[in-house]
Amino acid sequence: MSLHYLNYIDGEWVPATSGKTFESFNPATGELIGVVPESDAQDVANAVGAAARAFEKWRKTPAPHRAEILHTAADLIRARKQQLGELLTREMGKVLPEALGDVQEAVDMGMYMAGEGRRLNGLLVPSELPNKWAMAVRDPLGVVGIITPWNFPIAVPSWKIFPALVCGNTIVWKPAEDTPVLAIEFVKILEEAGLPPGVLNLVTGYGVPAGEALVQDPRVKLISFTGSNEIGKLIAVQCAQLGKRVSLELGGKNAIIVLDDADVDLATDGIIWSAFGTSGQRCTATSRVIVTPGIHTTLAERIANRAAHLRLGNGLLPTTDVGPLINKNAVTKVHAYSEIGKGEGAQLLVGGDYATEGELARGHFYKPTVFDNVTPKMRLAQEEIFGPSLSILRANSIDDAIQINNSVNFGLSASVYTSNVNQAFEAMRDIATGILYINAGTIGSEVQLPFGGTRGTGNGHREGGGPPVLEVFTEWKSIYVDYSGRLQRAQIDTDILVS
Ligand code: NAD
Repeated sequence: MSLHYLNYIDGEWVPATSGKTFESFNPATGELIGVVPESDAQDVANAVGAAARAFEKWRKTPAPHRAEILHTAADLIRARKQQLGELLTREMGKVLPEALGDVQEAVDMGMYMAGEGRRLNGLLVPSELPNKWAMAVRDPLGVVGIITPWNFPIAVPSWKIFPALVCGNTIVWKPAEDTPVLAIEFVKILEEAGLPPGVLNLVTGYGVPAGEALVQDPRVKLISFTGSNEIGKLIAVQCAQLGKRVSLELGGKNAIIVLDDADVDLATDGIIWSAFGTSGQRCTATSRVIVTPGIHTTLAERIANRAAHLRLGNGLLPTTDVGPLINKNAVTKVHAYSEIGKGEGAQLLVGGDYATEGELARGHFYKPTVFDNVTPKMRLAQEEIFGPSLSILRANSIDDAIQINNSVNFGLSASVYTSNVNQAFEAMRDIATGILYINAGTIGSEVQLPFGGTRGTGNGHREGGGPPVLEVFTEWKSIYVDYSGRLQRAQIDTDILVS
């Protein structure tokens, strides 16, 4: 099987105009996964041109017909779930059960948005004047630019591509440079499902120049971006200057609060799953545990013990609990934070070092790491590390715990373990994150509810599902139809009666 892949522009598979390519590798083994186009501004311009040409016809295609293509695509993804899951583990590294979950989320989103094709609800309200109809409909935006990260290489694109399509937009997608082959396989499925040429275009390449060119193109009406805060802010500034709509889903510094009355076994399970699943490379991963004094010691011991026994390895092996990090830079960054933590006076319980024994030396592995006695102002407790690194902080009460939770510059996900319903409701009222779990870890969102965060995690939009995703990919058009046959003035002709 050839490992050479192409861009998808105007329904054709084409190389980069420069002829340049780059390679994608398995982060567990170093195996070559694919050679893909290294696109530049010219490729992006070609893709945007194709999307712009396709827009008129696509927006006029009835939404139920657009949705049928999504339905077919979701069926195809489901049929190829195992194959896609294995490729996902090979290109991105997460263990196979999680990779299959990543693929399943695209099936769920495809089905959910296919249903939206027969809904796309507008508004119909009474007019203040007689013989006048007042309503609002959703219009597509036009060409939308989609820029995605590598950590959910199928799920996150599906959160954007399916709603964008069902709403009648055309797309240029620039996937992450670490997972381009998965993006190509995803687009192949949409092509097979019957998407007309030009409606979805794919350019693989680096953030600069390919992503930047997409942001800068005046024909692109919206940038839907998921990724780091650093790049998100940069893109927001550029979009503001261009008067362009932008939806940002950025990083997290998510906490699990464990109160004295919690079920400690249940909490430990949730913490291990949320902190070390996907090697901590989820935007919703738990990187802080905030615990009250009565169970601090017990909980810290259990977490450290479980973390020390997690088995690192290739995610395709059933014996592996935790896979590799995405690349060398990621492992270096996590290790730098271990050094920062030690320097700040936090107590290292387990891990804190590269994992290089035997086969692990071929990949980018880091030992699951747990720090105790971390205080809220430490960098360890404030900054997104995006790896298998967990900090335990102590709080005096539920109010103190909530205050610590809310004190970071991110607001994506949080969780509270308690058996006291009053405390659970207090947390539901006062925790300032976009997603909150009670007696479950910080990960596990479902597509029928909004996904996104407060504060530095984004700019107020919600993607990933739920009705609010439609707000990102449409704009409102209010329509008044006056069938009175005479001049009627809103707010002025207040004494008009039906004659
Ligand atoms: P990243 O910001 O480095 O890259 C994201 C994408 O932006 C990539 O496709 C990259 O090529 C592109 N890019 C880079 N520079 C660009 C530029 N100047 N102009 C346009 N595009 C550019 O992020 P990453 O390392 O791929 O992903 C990890 C980050 O994503 C973490 O911070 C994580 O929390 C976040 N994330 C957030 C969510 C969420 O929904 N909130 C979901 C997943 C990941």
